This record gives sequence, C-alpha cells and structure tokens, in this order.
Amino acid sequence: MRQLHKALRENHHLRHGGRMQYGLFLKGIGLTLEQALQFWKQEFIKGKMDPDKFDKGYSYNIRHSFGKEGKRTDYTPFSCLKIILSNPPSHGDYHGCPFRHSDPELLKQKLQSYKISPGGISQILDLVKGTHYQVACQKYFEMIHNVSICIYIFFTLYPNSLSFVTVSHSGFLVAAVETTLAIFRRKGNCMVLGNIAFIEGPDN
Ligand code: SF4
Repeated sequence: MRQLHKALRENHHLRHGGRMQYGLFLKGIGLTLEQALQFWKQEFIKGKMDPDKFDKGYSYNIRHSFGKEGKRTDYTPFSCLKIILSNPPSHGDYHGCPFRHSDPELLKQKLQSYKISPGGISQILDLVKGTHYQVACQKYFEMIHNVSICIYIFFTLYPNSLSFVTVSHSGFLVAAVETTLAIFRRKGNCMVLGNIAFIEGPDN
C-alpha cells in the first residue's frame, strides 16, 4: 500500500489494478463512499484530469466497489494470498505484493531507501528467495517499526491487519481475532492465545 500511495501521490493516477487494491484497502480501514470519491477525485484532478471526466470514467467503479452499482456486491479488501497469487502487475502498474512481484535488486534498493539494515535486508531477501513472502513482509514490518512482534498466523493474511497494527504503534496492545480487531489500552507482555495476538507497543 505504501508503494500504491506513493505512486498515486506522484502520478496523480493509478491504473485499474492499483485502484482496486488500494481502494478496497482504504474502504477496509473505514473510508466511506463519499470520502473515497473525494479522495480519488482530488488526487486525479491534481494530475490535470477534468472533473467531469473523472465523474464519467471513474466514479462508477468506486460506487461499484461499495456495492452501489451493478450486482451490488459489497466488496471486501483483497487478502495477501489473493494479491500474491493473482493479477500480477505489468509495466506501469503499482499493485501486487512488493515481496512477491518486485525484482530482487529493486526490492533491495527499496529496503535500503527505507533504512533497513544490511543484515535485515539480507534476512528479508532470503525469505523472499524461499517464497516466504508474508514472513518477509512481517520481518520488514518488525524492522521498520522497531518492534518485536509475536508470531501469529493471520497477521499477514490481510494488508488491512497491518494498518491496525500500525495504528497501535503508540503504545496500545492490539487484539486481533481473525479480521475483527479490537484495541485495548493496557500494558503487558507479548503473548499468543490461539488465534488471538497481543502485541506490545515500543513505548509501553
Ligand atoms: S504480504 Fe505484505 S506486502 Fe504482500 S500483500 Fe500482504 S501486506 Fe501487502
């Protein structure tokens, strides 16, 4: 999502695959239909797109993803598995999983630009080489946020899970039960209870 957001801010445009992946992610973290229409329109207009052209060519798909057009399916965010296994990005696309779809040298350069240590980069690249993309992503998350994260299975099932954990970064513990996450304001140690994970923030 970082890659998609950066590309959107730089190019004021995303192709269909990127709009779907990022749009459903934003919906999953709580953006309403009205906010989504405003968000995309504002960004596209910065790229000199005529507002009428946006309304005619792009707003339908956004309403569609919120179940307001066509078959009226209320779409949910893509899971990591779906992103990793389907619809690989082509030239000019920014969607997909950076750990699965980036060229290793490009991924290395990206990780360097994010200030990951050489040792950390080599750990991540080894995981990618072994096709452990979600574990590589989890390692990256631990390193970028400087936290020791408990091992839990569903954590990297959805990119949206990561957004909740990021929100927790200022000292909350996060309890995640499959896709339902609740935030508890308490201190304690990192522990795993079945499919419930508690994560201790760095400033606890
Ligand atoms: S593994 Fe990480 S980078 Fe890949 S799709 Fe899932 S959240 Fe995104």
